[in-house]
Amino acid sequence: VKKKASNYEKQAQPVKQTAVLGAGIMGGGIAYQSASKGTPILMKDIKDDAIELGLKEARKLFAKQVERKKLTTEQMAEKLTNIRPTLSYGDFGNVDLVVEAVVENPKVKDAVLTEVEGMVGENTILTSNTSTISINRLAQNLKRPENFCGMHFFNPVHRMPLVEVIRGEKTSDAAVGATVAYARAMGKTPIVVNDCPGFLVNRVLFPYFGGFSFLVEQGADFQHVDKVMEKFGWPMGPAYLLDVVGLDTAVHANEVMAEGFPDRMAREGKTAIQVMYDNERLGQKNDKGFYAYE
Ligand code: NAD
Repeated sequence: VKKKASNYEKQAQPVKQTAVLGAGIMGGGIAYQSASKGTPILMKDIKDDAIELGLKEARKLFAKQVERKKLTTEQMAEKLTNIRPTLSYGDFGNVDLVVEAVVENPKVKDAVLTEVEGMVGENTILTSNTSTISINRLAQNLKRPENFCGMHFFNPVHRMPLVEVIRGEKTSDAAVGATVAYARAMGKTPIVVNDCPGFLVNRVLFPYFGGFSFLVEQGADFQHVDKVMEKFGWPMGPAYLLDVVGLDTAVHANEVMAEGFPDRMAREGKTAIQVMYDNERLGQKNDKGFYAYE
């Protein structure tokens, strides 16, 4: 972390209209958080049912605020109009900042980022919510890499205060500034970090998941490990956290980390996490992971 996040904001253009690509666990959460704090956001996906899921999640979170008497039903209805679901790039011309939150696959992200760059204005800031993929790597195919940086939220978005703003080699101060300002407008605490696979938090978290997986492969009971880690003081154990993150996302992110740091992160054979993924136990997103959900 070189400069304080706040130093960048002086160079930032105002962020009034935003968009998120992907209405999944993270995209839905980002849309809710932005809408809740008053910045309008387009939520684009390629599937109707994904959009429905994203909206359902946002409605559920707003309804909880109403239950807790933090919002009236009228305020909830008004805030919900800040989320505009779409399957097309029709209204992207006026967007100041885009958060890409599609699947953790470099090829898919390359295609989506190139596509959206052609749909937005020259000054629009593009950001990626990638968990692990290097920002320099994703910037390679972009025409305006200076307008691109990482904006890494944590799951669940409405609860987790931190946002990593990742500066690539070509990222301008203005792009970092706009992203920092948007994170702050969303009520988050941004930190500016340098680029590498996994950035800062996941360079700590993924070795921890690896250690947990190895314990399970050696016969440890995952529920027992979770209970022990809760007693240790973590809000949830690793198995439950993996279910929240999504086993597919964890596997794809770990592949990127293993490619970036082969001596530390690459493993021979299948890990327990990989076996879960192979058996389509993806976690809370499909109601079965280490635990079963209804
Ligand atoms: P997810 O599988 O829940 O959602 C991904 C969504 O992207 C799906 O709705 C899918 O239909 C959509 N999508 C796929 N291709 C698309 C395209 N071309 N255009 C628009 N939408 C498209 O995944 P997620 O957990 O929300 O993860 C999204 C990103 O956020 C990944 O890069 C992931 O690494 C990152 N992330 C995830 C977590 C986490 O805990 N799950 C935390 C931080 C960051």
